[in-house]
Amino acid sequence: MHTIARRVLVSGVKNADKAWDNYNKSRMKQRAGARMGVPRFKCKGVSRDSFTVPHETTGAYGTYYHEKDPEYARRKAQLKRRGISARPTITDYRHVRLSHLGVIRTHNTTKPLVKAVRAGAQIRSYTVSRAANRWYVSILVELTRPSATPTRAQRSAGAVGVDLGVRYLAALSDEQAPQRFAQYPSLEFTGDGAPTLANPRWARTAEKRLVRLQRALARAQKGSNRRARIVQQIARHHHLVALRRESGLHQVSKRLATGYTLIGLEDLAVAGMTASAAGTIEAPGKRVRQKAGLNRSILDAAFSTLRRQLEYKASWYGSQVQIVDRFFASSQTCSACGARARTKLDLRVRVFECAACGVRIDRDVNAARNIRTEAVRMYEAQLAPGTGESLNGRGVAGSDAAGSVVLGDAALDASRPAATGGGSP
Ligand SMILES: [Zn+2]
Repeated sequence: MHTIARRVLVSGVKNADKAWDNYNKSRMKQRAGARMGVPRFKCKGVSRDSFTVPHETTGAYGTYYHEKDPEYARRKAQLKRRGISARPTITDYRHVRLSHLGVIRTHNTTKPLVKAVRAGAQIRSYTVSRAANRWYVSILVELTRPSATPTRAQRSAGAVGVDLGVRYLAALSDEQAPQRFAQYPSLEFTGDGAPTLANPRWARTAEKRLVRLQRALARAQKGSNRRARIVQQIARHHHLVALRRESGLHQVSKRLATGYTLIGLEDLAVAGMTASAAGTIEAPGKRVRQKAGLNRSILDAAFSTLRRQLEYKASWYGSQVQIVDRFFASSQTCSACGARARTKLDLRVRVFECAACGVRIDRDVNAARNIRTEAVRMYEAQLAPGTGESLNGRGVAGSDAAGSVVLGDAALDASRPAATGGGSP
């Protein structure tokens, strides 16, 4: 307790308070959404290492160095040589000043933060956290923006349904999507004319490497240095994959939020979209259970990441996000005539064929179209007076005209062990 700053302990107590409050409110049915569990104890090294410091001096470009900062004297001398007598400040987009920790070199640019502060944003808090071998600082700012209205292009494109899957990164309901986004090569369509986004190529390589690492881990002796090293490598691998997935989804969420007025997403708690490794009775798949688990976790991560990104980006670009109910059967319904297929569609069947109207369409595109229809229906039902329902269980995140926004994380330079004081209490 005596080796870390007071604020670190305060942030832990605040988090615990919030968790108990959520739990109690959930128990008393005063809180929407899924039932909250009893808060668990967190400890250093096992839980995610992080701490939050509320409104303290922090920032980038133009922030003064603290007089006790070793960098202060160096910069002061530099200015003096040029005949300038002034307090040295940060003059690039690569440093932040955190109270207690001093000026720290960042890996990512701080330009978005600088721009926000110049536009009048108030810094509310900063959070230092660790993921695998990297330290991150996330700076929460509050900025009032004029309410965004959709552009003419957005309005003409209207609503879109998005179906996240295993076979594709995502299928869209909008047939025009490949042409619409042709100028953005970062958005890779499958190329067969269908509005389906290709799975990123790196994902396969990443899976192979993970399998190799896990095999090595199984062979390593318990308690050995080698085992500890492999555990670290696996953590790092998972983190790098998550970062790549996140940046890929940023491309998708940006295009969706700027391209349409309403984005429908299916809540992926629905089972049965995964497990494509099962095979047949004649040729059973290998390691079916593991692969299904992996697919499941990848999908879950993709869904929650895309949802989070879309919700804040939608508020910037005047669009809306509609989460479609988890029990809504998007893959069994015909998007053309609305007939329900009697049996559940086998996952190996790639094309949806309607027995009622005879339409033939890619099964994922069919699902995306159904999601679009359902999203439009749900959104319009909300607009009707007297329903009084919020957009989702956690409140209408990001759709306020002038809400607070969170800017991206700026990764700290991992080579500088400045933030080692941060075990979450
Ligand atoms: Zn039909």
